[in-house]
Amino acid sequence: MPTPIITDGSIGRVPQSPRIVLPTNAQRFAERADRFEALANGHPMADYLRAMAQIARAQQVALQARAAAPIAEPLLASSRQYGMPPVSAQSHERGAEWRADLRDIVATVRRSASGQLRDTLAQLAALGDDALETLAERLIVGTTLDADAAFVPFVGAALQVYFSRLAATLEAGDVEKCDVATVCPVCATRPVASVLRVGPQNALRYLHCALCETEWNMVRVKCSSCEADKGLAYLSIEQEGRSAADAVTKAETCGECRSYLKIFNQDKDAFVDPVADDLATLALDVLVDEQGFARSGPNLLFHPGSG
Ligand SMILES: [Zn+2]
Ligand SMILES: [Zn+2]
Repeated sequence: MPTPIITDGSIGRVPQSPRIVLPTNAQRFAERADRFEALANGHPMADYLRAMAQIARAQQVALQARAAAPIAEPLLASSRQYGMPPVSAQSHERGAEWRADLRDIVATVRRSASGQLRDTLAQLAALGDDALETLAERLIVGTTLDADAAFVPFVGAALQVYFSRLAATLEAGDVEKCDVATVCPVCATRPVASVLRVGPQNALRYLHCALCETEWNMVRVKCSSCEADKGLAYLSIEQEGRSAADAVTKAETCGECRSYLKIFNQDKDAFVDPVADDLATLALDVLVDEQGFARSGPNLLFHPGSG
């Protein structure tokens, strides 16, 4: 019998891992809240991580409260044609929805807040639109002030809701042309961390956008900041019962540009979340900073220096 000619593209049928994964998981912030709570158990910063879990729960409420305004067609067209990120965070004109998201998040967390947090939330709720836009601007550009520190987790949370909601309206084909590997193909923001995701064949490294939650594939042997393929080294914190090679969390350091970014191994812990696990491993940042490396991507729920 002759070999049938397969015309539907299924020849060999090797499952392909996608290059870009858009944030279409409708429960993404609820799952992050669960992860924060799991990480809090027995953690020296348990109260902090539980507070972050509450913010993530409030993000989920805000996410479901409204729909994304459509992205303007010319932006989609230039993304498809020239690989321009369609909602580039620094130039995108934010809709008022993000401030509604922020007010929802503040209102939700406020219900169970006490003490200093209650005061912070009252101050934040009293800020006018212009002040909120200025805060958002500083957070996106990476110039938050020490005076902003208490507001950052809430403003960052609202921006994540707003931008991830927009990103989820895209099709992967809209953003596939972007070939700058070191920034998000949707919003041009730097990644918060890498995740080694268990794929059909082997683990692939995805960078996770700090803002819109999109993930994009990048080869493992390159620095995620300067793309140098030499001089990478991995640092981790010793954990009882685990060898260094077995660590869930490592810092990938680059000897060329002296930067680092964390990399989480999903094979070692199926529930890793780049944003939550990052904040649960701030001790590693301290260690790596001491070695003279500068972190290359932000966590928008955290003002550096406020730890
Ligand atoms: Zn993004
Ligand atoms: Zn580098």
